[in-house]
Amino acid sequence: VNYHADINTSPVTAVDRERRDAAAGIQTTDRFARFSQRNDMFNRAFWDDEIRRPEMMAFFDSYRKTPSFRRGRGFGQKDFALRNAAWAVSDEFSSRGESQGIREGFNAPLQPTAQVASEQVEVESRDDMTAEIKQIAKLFGAGIVGIAPYDPRWTYANRVSSATFEEDETGLPEGLTSVVVLGHEMDRALVDTYPSAVAGAATGNAYSEETATVIRLSQYIRNLGWQAVGSMNDSALVIPYALQAGLGEYARNQLVITPEYGPRVRFSKVLTDLPLVHDQPRLLGVRRFCDVCTRCIDACPVKALPSGPPSDVQLNRSAIQGVIKWTSDAEKCFGFWADLRSDCAICLRVCPWNRDFGYWWNRVWRWFARTPARGWLIKLENLSKRGKRKQSTNWWKRVKSVTPR
Ligand code: SF4
Ligand code: SF4
Repeated sequence: VNYHADINTSPVTAVDRERRDAAAGIQTTDRFARFSQRNDMFNRAFWDDEIRRPEMMAFFDSYRKTPSFRRGRGFGQKDFALRNAAWAVSDEFSSRGESQGIREGFNAPLQPTAQVASEQVEVESRDDMTAEIKQIAKLFGAGIVGIAPYDPRWTYANRVSSATFEEDETGLPEGLTSVVVLGHEMDRALVDTYPSAVAGAATGNAYSEETATVIRLSQYIRNLGWQAVGSMNDSALVIPYALQAGLGEYARNQLVITPEYGPRVRFSKVLTDLPLVHDQPRLLGVRRFCDVCTRCIDACPVKALPSGPPSDVQLNRSAIQGVIKWTSDAEKCFGFWADLRSDCAICLRVCPWNRDFGYWWNRVWRWFARTPARGWLIKLENLSKRGKRKQSTNWWKRVKSVTPR
């Protein structure tokens, strides 16, 4: 998937970082400060009295303890059953150290099955090792893989304990040079039913799959005698790494749009000192498309997405400081999730880039999306039924119709 690779190795020089940032569409200002994980909405819901409310705890409880079945379509017992089962692999790992403050994959890295081997495999060719790691990542379940240079700007200023919600050291080892970024596709038919509990199975499934991929890939690298930290939402921001690894381009809905899956993808990462070749960022024309599109803004039920060009305005403490980008109002967004008792991705569902690029006509669409024809594509999108919410009952009917006897 990723071409145009160079043999640039870490540490990245200031000049090269500037070049790579420009190529990836990343802009920082003098106000830049690393993000503290304690400030993300999922953690603030536990400690920040300014925003926390009982619905937020009911949201978390609905995943493991008390699903909130109700009459609305897509929120029945089967819908919650599927969503929560989809999360089960991720839950298994995240819960095992939660009470000791180590919620793996969220507040701390996935813990190693075995430590770094005492003997180190020699890397004679970075190119060969890079090709091998990408193949093995796919063998372990990744859909797309890219490699970025390690960049301390994206490491959290500190992690947060899942027991006390106090700040703690991220604990990343010294000497990291590369980040292997892994993308997992979210199921399209489930995404079509957002907002619903059953749609949340698309997110849960991707989390469970990435847990299994990250834990195996990081263990493989440790078995070679090199350091590897298996990471999901913990330790560092993943979006800048996905951009730097050439996997896609940042969009107004705060997602990375990839040429393979559009925005319908979740990312995880393995941070390592294994000598690898870094991919180059690549732009797909998303920035110019989003400049003239408002579909996600219009569809957001709580108006949490920004209009206008990217900026470094910080609406609240859940936004990173000193990065010029489109940033949602995370307080409004998570408030809606809490009321729904499930995650929302309406802004993903309605995005014109949410297509199956396995079909040639969607690849033709992608080609035109880079051209001034983008305005017409948006008009056509608005006239068509694409992106409209599908009933979860249709999803269940479809399951029955394809179930082998
Ligand atoms: S996830 Fe839902 S609430 Fe949040 S920004 Fe997207 S559409 Fe709005
Ligand atoms: S819906 Fe439109 S504006 Fe929003 S992310 Fe997709 S292309 Fe960009």
